[in-house]
Amino acid sequence: MADATHENKTPPAAYSRFKAFVFLSVLIFAILGGSWWLRERASAAAPQVMKTAVNPPQTLNTTPTTVGWKADIGVPVLCYHQIVTDEQYRAKPTPYAVTVKQLKEQIDWLAENNFYTILPDELLAYVRGEKKLDFSNGKRPIVITFDDGNNDFVNYAQKILDAHGYKGVLFIYPTYIMARKQRSMTWAEIQAVRKAGHAIESHTMWHPMLSTMSDAEQRAQFADSKKILDAKGGAQVRHLAYPFGVYTAASLKLLQETGYASAYTTFHGGNQVGENPYLLRRFLVVKGDNAKIFAQKTLARSLPLKLLNSQPGAVVEGAMQLKVGLPPELDDSAFKVRVFSTAQKFSYEPKTGTMTIELKPSKKRLSALEILYKEDGVEYRANALFNHRRDRVAKSAERKTRKKKHKKRRHTEDT
Ligand SMILES: [Zn+2]
Repeated sequence: MADATHENKTPPAAYSRFKAFVFLSVLIFAILGGSWWLRERASAAAPQVMKTAVNPPQTLNTTPTTVGWKADIGVPVLCYHQIVTDEQYRAKPTPYAVTVKQLKEQIDWLAENNFYTILPDELLAYVRGEKKLDFSNGKRPIVITFDDGNNDFVNYAQKILDAHGYKGVLFIYPTYIMARKQRSMTWAEIQAVRKAGHAIESHTMWHPMLSTMSDAEQRAQFADSKKILDAKGGAQVRHLAYPFGVYTAASLKLLQETGYASAYTTFHGGNQVGENPYLLRRFLVVKGDNAKIFAQKTLARSLPLKLLNSQPGAVVEGAMQLKVGLPPELDDSAFKVRVFSTAQKFSYEPKTGTMTIELKPSKKRLSALEILYKEDGVEYRANALFNHRRDRVAKSAERKTRKKKHKKRRHTEDT
């Protein structure tokens, strides 16, 4: 994820890229998160809904477009970055930070509302349909994740989770630990956290935007980060969180080849049985989230989606007639289809569940497609990410990498 501290963590030569990262990630989160929460805020109070026990489907489905998806409320995944004291926040307000007080209130609220934590291995088994989770008597599984490797986790978050026997997941990028920043965890802390039962997983090697990288570069990001976290952090890394929530079609395959079993995006919603394990949904918790917004995030519902004539993270050049598979027999007047909050023309075939969307050409680096479906006051949501102009972006990334290597060499020679 992007946050203000990346300024210190990013290699200096990548500063201009960092600025582009911040811009893009702010754009993604502002548009995806902002528009959605504004709508959510207007809807009925959520915590009461929590009291209604929602049972998992009787028969576990392995395909996303089969019936039973509405009954699968799914497993939400929360994403935290920095946990700061009120004083720290006042001194340096950062949008991705949450205060210690806020975190305590949120975690206490989860405990009061029958949430129990699970780790990525269990979530993976659930979405694969291999393991049932306990939804009885209003119980709800949840995954609580912390990105980057900030020592706020050991300083503040760990105690708060411990009070309820909760376990967290830390997505760490090793260059941050190796840089020994003021806020970065030490390898000893990472080992202790792992021994205490929390999961240590990968956030790539140095937090790049994967869409700017060649396949070989991506492969190195996945393989190297796993290797070093396993060796120095005592981890057994099998899962990854995409930096900035950005991935390419190649990312999914490369992750599989380098020993990863699942990966997390930044698209909202509960993870249902049949979900693509390399496109797990996860949402940011930010300073602006009040108690109601936080509760609503944990209740976000999902619409299963299958790309029929494209791949997740694929490069789309120019206009495209995109075909997606959705559950059949839905009311086509209850859909909203958007790319970055701009409405898109679409048609839905109720018999097959096939939706055809006219994607307009885009000058942006990437597009986030959003499909919303409202039924009985409940909003279900699906997302997909597409990249654009890969060649140009990849070329500029190569140039920057060359420059960086050159600078690094000079730096090494100097010291
Ligand atoms: Zn991050």
